[in-house]
Amino acid sequence: MTDRDLVIAGGGPAGIMAGLLFARAGCNVQVLEKHADFFRDFRGDTVHPSTLELLRELGLIDEFLKRPHDEVRTLTGRVANRQITFADTSHLPVESRFIALMPQWDFLDFLAKEARHYPTFSLRMQAEAVDLIIENGRVLGVLLSDGEEVRARLTIAADGRSSMLRDKADLPKKDLGASIDVLWFRLPKQKTATNETGGTFGAGTFLVELDRGDYWQCAYVVPKGAADEIHRNGLPAFCASIAQAEPKLAPVVDTIEDWEQVKLLSVSLDRLTRWWRPGLLAIGDAAHAMSPVGGVGINLAIQDAVAAATILAAPLAGGDDVDPLLKTVQERRLFPTRVIQGAQRIIHNRVLTPLVARKAKLDKVPFVLSLFDRVPLLRRIPARLVGLGVRREHIRSPDAGLRRAAPPRPSRPRGSSRSPRRTARS
Ligand SMILES: Cc1cc2nc3c(=O)[nH]c(=O)nc-3n(C[C@H](O)[C@H](O)[C@H](O)COP(=O)(O)OP(=O)(O)OC[C@H]3O[C@@H](n4cnc5c(N)ncnc54)[C@H](O)[C@@H]3O)c2cc1C
Repeated sequence: MTDRDLVIAGGGPAGIMAGLLFARAGCNVQVLEKHADFFRDFRGDTVHPSTLELLRELGLIDEFLKRPHDEVRTLTGRVANRQITFADTSHLPVESRFIALMPQWDFLDFLAKEARHYPTFSLRMQAEAVDLIIENGRVLGVLLSDGEEVRARLTIAADGRSSMLRDKADLPKKDLGASIDVLWFRLPKQKTATNETGGTFGAGTFLVELDRGDYWQCAYVVPKGAADEIHRNGLPAFCASIAQAEPKLAPVVDTIEDWEQVKLLSVSLDRLTRWWRPGLLAIGDAAHAMSPVGGVGINLAIQDAVAAATILAAPLAGGDDVDPLLKTVQERRLFPTRVIQGAQRIIHNRVLTPLVARKAKLDKVPFVLSLFDRVPLLRRIPARLVGLGVRREHIRSPDAGLRRAAPPRPSRPRGSSRSPRRTARS
């Protein structure tokens, strides 16, 4: 017998947003996060207009925008030494016509703080789910690493792209193949009045530079599996290739003194062909691992959480059996997932792989790309796809009116660091 409506494994964007919305609807929710805090290696800092609009619908946008952030309105790239604007969000049909750049741990901390206003919400840090409790074919909750059972009427697997729960649940997966990997690193920069986020398409390289105020968060795209060879060639050769690709980084590239400063993201692109089984639903990267192309993973994960709450929160709060509704969540979210993953595959295979694997040299701007310069209206298309996505969700799950003015202070797990910014781990 359990009195908990929902247990969510994973305190990433999907898990925390789902926790907030289900708790707001009156469900008794526990979110389990295996780490002691939200601070870990770079996982993307982009909060897109679609997510900003959801925060607006929840009445949280003003509070959110009080946190330190940058606002990006155009996405530019340097192609064959010409600066081209590919996306311009200033015409989007929403109020927040920009991408907010905010460290993911701040964004998660904000969502968790808001969720704690609901007495029906609880977040347990350092709580790792290691198995599912399954009886008569139905998932009844999860088993934690210390042997404790956390039972609930519904379990949500939001444990990311290496989801253990989706494997334990035997959910079938389709691997879409990814032809690239990405090396991530930081380089120092001078603060500028406007945000200079952009990309560089060079001779055999594609480099993205996210302007994070006093540093560049850089993504260096390499062919799948090429990281070993890059390591063997040595750090000086790697640094030289960055400086060659983007001369403005040449003066600071030597600040990379150790491979420890360069993280490898093995890119995967996959999705489950069934996102559920009785008692369990997978959302976010656990249901569909996304490529970092377009920086849309966080926002897609959030949209899944919103759709799950729209479809399931009211019946779950009302004590109904939600198993027959689980497939509706998949049906709702499969289309946008397919569209975005399809676009990412095209960009992997048609743009990035020829560039970095075949060392295709760009002496002049390809005709298709030059159109973005000649016809500024075209910039609205990528802006719309990246900024708002397809089949955008809205907050339709009920508000049970449980919000209290002051949330209790989160209890800090024993042994965790007081300052989460001091260390990072995956
Ligand atoms: C290097 C990199 C750069 C990226 N850049 C961007 C970007 O710029 N913009 C963007 O939108 N997306 C980006 N992404 C993708 C984005 O990070 C993901 O798509 C998004 O975080 C998915 O959210 P999620 O909540 O589904 O999963 P995750 O964010 O992966 O969260 C899963 C959570 O579950 C926890 N967990 C895992 N296993 C367990 C367990 N067994 N028990 C309890 N907890 C568990 C993890 O600690 C984690 O906190 C990037 C990804 C990477 C790796």
